[in-house]
Amino acid sequence: MPVEEVKLAAKFKVDLTDVDEAVISEIYRLFEEYREIVDELLEVATRNHITSFVKLYHAKYRELRQKYPMLPSMYIVNACRHAASIYKSFIKSRRLGMCERDKPTFRGRTIWLHRRVFRLDVEGWRASIAVHGGRWILLRLLHGECHERFRGMEHGEARLMLRDDGNLYLNVSFSQTVILPEPDANARVIAVDINENVIAYGNDDFVERLETNEGIIRTRYFLKRRRIRSKIRGRELQRRLLEKYRGREWRRVREIYYKAAKEIIGKAKEIGGTVIVMEDLKIYKEDRSSKELNGRIHRWSYRRFQRILEYQARLHGLNVVYVDPRNTSSICPVCGGKLNPSQNGRRLVRCQRCELEEDRDVIAVKNLVKRYYEEYASAKTSQTSF
Ligand SMILES: [Zn+2]
Repeated sequence: MPVEEVKLAAKFKVDLTDVDEAVISEIYRLFEEYREIVDELLEVATRNHITSFVKLYHAKYRELRQKYPMLPSMYIVNACRHAASIYKSFIKSRRLGMCERDKPTFRGRTIWLHRRVFRLDVEGWRASIAVHGGRWILLRLLHGECHERFRGMEHGEARLMLRDDGNLYLNVSFSQTVILPEPDANARVIAVDINENVIAYGNDDFVERLETNEGIIRTRYFLKRRRIRSKIRGRELQRRLLEKYRGREWRRVREIYYKAAKEIIGKAKEIGGTVIVMEDLKIYKEDRSSKELNGRIHRWSYRRFQRILEYQARLHGLNVVYVDPRNTSSICPVCGGKLNPSQNGRRLVRCQRCELEEDRDVIAVKNLVKRYYEEYASAKTSQTSF
């Protein structure tokens, strides 16, 4: 059976009651310097178009080390990583037209903590963090029942987050080994087909349609942004509003995604399914035309949903596989004949050969299921998942 590492994130609120003033000011100082460093790195990255951590590190580490000799060096290393990652995602979102700024910014609210500057005691619910001069400060962590599962788990890196309201959080990544069911010819599967407004899922026995209305939400926000661009004077205000609505849009879509993932996993469990089948969207890249920006944004968004579902599914002990999605909406899942739009309904398609008539989404789901069995009946265990 395939064994995989699933990453889990734990978020702890830091208990700041009765904490010494000196400790608080150490924390603020850490945030301040880390921000200065990341800002400086971002400027270098932008000026020289550096997206690689290694290059950024070689360009600036020594200089920053001299400038901040009392700061544990791992903060500078991680700041290089952090800045490279901010710059990379800035470029990506600008390419997709999702970003209104002309250079990346860092709000300075997050510090990436390297394992060497941070210790965690899950039993005692405490964390220590290295600060100036190599001293360590101790933080008490507030915890609830949901944190109990992390006892005894291996932890990795962490992030220290300072909220606008002054609250401090520690996000720690843990990894858990899960044993996933084999994706083979005997597995019961649930295939998931993602469209703009509908996520359809099921297998040969049933197909459910989830109305997400994501496309409608996106259009609404698109119109809102267009209004802001034409009506609001003042670049800074315009930029702020645009970003506010971007954030709101993404949060709404993400909420829909999580709900959908939960429903699909629940159904899989209910029917004894063990494998989730999705479209391998990378395959579309081969025949994409560069003009087709809209399609690219959709695929990017679908990919985000797939990642959420994949992660949640694995946590629940379900395997996830991706299959070739080409022609899954244009070929009959029964006889392989060509499908044409039907006269009897807008969403219906009809097979020329065997006269099957079905909803488009149902067709896509059944074809994905069929493709899974074609691939995994022969290949069996040689490949498991991505
Ligand atoms: Zn047919």
